[in-house]
Amino acid sequence: MKLLRSLVAAGTVSLMATATVAQERFITIGTGGQTGVYFVVGQSICRLVNRGSADHGLKCTAPSTGGSIANINAIAAGDMDMGVAQSDWQYHAYNGSSQFEGNKFEKARAVFSVHGEPFTVIARADAGISSFEDLKGKRVNIGNPGSGQRATMEVVMNALGWSLDEFALASELKPAEQAAALGDNKVDAIIYTVGHPNGSIQEAVSTVDAVLVPVEGDAIDGLIEANPFYAGATVPGGMYKGSDADTRTFGVKATFVTSADVPDDVVYEVVKAVFDNFDRFKRLHPAFENLKEEEMIADGLSAPLHPGAEKYYKERGWM
Ligand code: GLU
Repeated sequence: MKLLRSLVAAGTVSLMATATVAQERFITIGTGGQTGVYFVVGQSICRLVNRGSADHGLKCTAPSTGGSIANINAIAAGDMDMGVAQSDWQYHAYNGSSQFEGNKFEKARAVFSVHGEPFTVIARADAGISSFEDLKGKRVNIGNPGSGQRATMEVVMNALGWSLDEFALASELKPAEQAAALGDNKVDAIIYTVGHPNGSIQEAVSTVDAVLVPVEGDAIDGLIEANPFYAGATVPGGMYKGSDADTRTFGVKATFVTSADVPDDVVYEVVKAVFDNFDRFKRLHPAFENLKEEEMIADGLSAPLHPGAEKYYKERGWM
């Protein structure tokens, strides 16, 4: 009898052990507006992660959010596990500078960078805007609070010594609303830091005659010189109807960030899902077409690499 009982007990133990192998854990990835590229980044990562749920137990969701700053704040608060954020805001969050002064996110961790994001200005063709200076006196969508473009627009305005009084109207519409506002003549121009091509600008140029506006000059050159996370950028001619020539501006990188509080095995499995299926990932959006592994694990990362990501990169012999 005694023997039997211990056999039963042993059986129970081994059953429990198998059940914990794929214990469910829900993870949330912060993205941006539905017509932007961050939404596709998050959805694509989750799709690849969820294909392996039976093995690792992770169930991934990637809801639409306000963008970079909102994502970083949600990760810092522990409300989200990971998210997409512009490289300039990853830098400032980790260093407690600019918008993050007094609100330093020391536990911010870099995972990888994704596509380039030119600071993009697009104006109605009938608005008489052919340079950034021409935005003075116009109705401009400066972006929703919480978005990367809104925060970077404020940096540009500071560099130029501009206040909101420069504009006839400064609206705070989200990316998903801005193309319709341009088409309905509610604004003359919209600002978006975003990968190309994207749904929002495609929607804008298909509803109204609109042109990409260059963002250049001494103030912009000064920003690029003073900050490692800014670089010159070009939106290629012919990408959008109405803009046949290249458009010069400056830009950042989209990056994937997390917190030191997120366990190593979780970050490891997410990174593995992306890079074990990298060709599939790259096919999920045209802005991912030219991604290269060696650039993604190095460029635009200013917070320390998360150890779960580092483990995978070392296993692949990339570090
Ligand atoms: N760069 C934008 C932001 O930080 C989002 C762009 C996108 O959604 O693709 O809010």
